[in-house]
Amino acid sequence: MDFIYHIQYISFMKYEPKTLTAFDLLHRDIVSGVFAPGQPLRIAALTARYGVSATPLREALSRLAEKRLVVAAPNCGWRVAPVSLAEFEDLQAARLSIELSLLQDAMARGGVEWEAGIVAAHHRLARAMVPMGEKGDLEMRQIWIAAHDAFHEALLSAARSHWLKGFHAQLVEQVQRHHQALLLRSTDLQEVETLVRSALSVSRHTRVMDLVLARAWPAAEAAMRRHIEESVDIYRGIFGALSTPGQAEGQAQ
Ligand SMILES: [Zn+2]
Repeated sequence: MDFIYHIQYISFMKYEPKTLTAFDLLHRDIVSGVFAPGQPLRIAALTARYGVSATPLREALSRLAEKRLVVAAPNCGWRVAPVSLAEFEDLQAARLSIELSLLQDAMARGGVEWEAGIVAAHHRLARAMVPMGEKGDLEMRQIWIAAHDAFHEALLSAARSHWLKGFHAQLVEQVQRHHQALLLRSTDLQEVETLVRSALSVSRHTRVMDLVLARAWPAAEAAMRRHIEESVDIYRGIFGALSTPGQAEGQAQ
């Protein structure tokens, strides 16, 4: 397993306070949606929550700002970076471009171990329930997101470029944050929930896997493109359905 992706996967495993730094703790809680987009991050509250002193927390906040996960607030504090439709569209377009490049290389180079890794990751994804609505608690969301991202990572694992994989990992963690904030939110909008369930269903991933394992490049590319673009379409629908622009911009939970 690629190192960067492995770390990302570990970040969703069980809470281990003795081994995690202030950066790890805060990073995990932002990416997993414990802290909502736009939410203020006050040093005193974070100190109490994590049992660490203010200095490592300030350093962690600065590093998270470099990763565009937090932003400086007008009153000189910090808050979780907001989410928006425009940013999600931009993220998914960038992700698609990098993911297709890595996928093409992986399909040209992958051997039987790569194929076995994809099948195993697909099996784990099929066993994870899509965590939607009220039943979708934080732990379920984390399990599903970890299984989902591990499947996409398995598809790309035989690709060679570590730089592209690093960029891709960074984009994926931003996408995770958007998913936590909107796609997997509890919603009264039955139509939206049905669309999300369909887009995230294992059958969509099975179609991609079958084409990738068959080395059917143009068809696999088209299926992956459809898969990612579908989530953008749903996101547009969710934003359209939300009543006020202020709710959609940064305050979605
Ligand atoms: Zn997917």
